[in-house]
Amino acid sequence: MAAEPFAVVDAVLAHLCHKGLHGDVAEWCEMRHDCVYVVTCPECGASFTLLEEEYDVLIERSRQVGWTCGLRPISA
Ligand SMILES: [Zn+2]
Repeated sequence: MAAEPFAVVDAVLAHLCHKGLHGDVAEWCEMRHDCVYVVTCPECGASFTLLEEEYDVLIERSRQVGWTCGLRPISA
């Protein structure tokens, strides 16, 4: 079987949605515009580092569950 490409997304959702939490997000960009997103659990402080494409998937998954957990909706 192929490796799950977005395993970190599942890990973040499993962690946050277990308790219906929304993670705090920080964006970290390096000099060459390589950005990663750090999602931190507001309850225990666990943090997960996501690549931009993984972050996009996390947003989509959060939207699919009606923003009940995962990430907060971003005003469009
Ligand atoms: Zn936690």
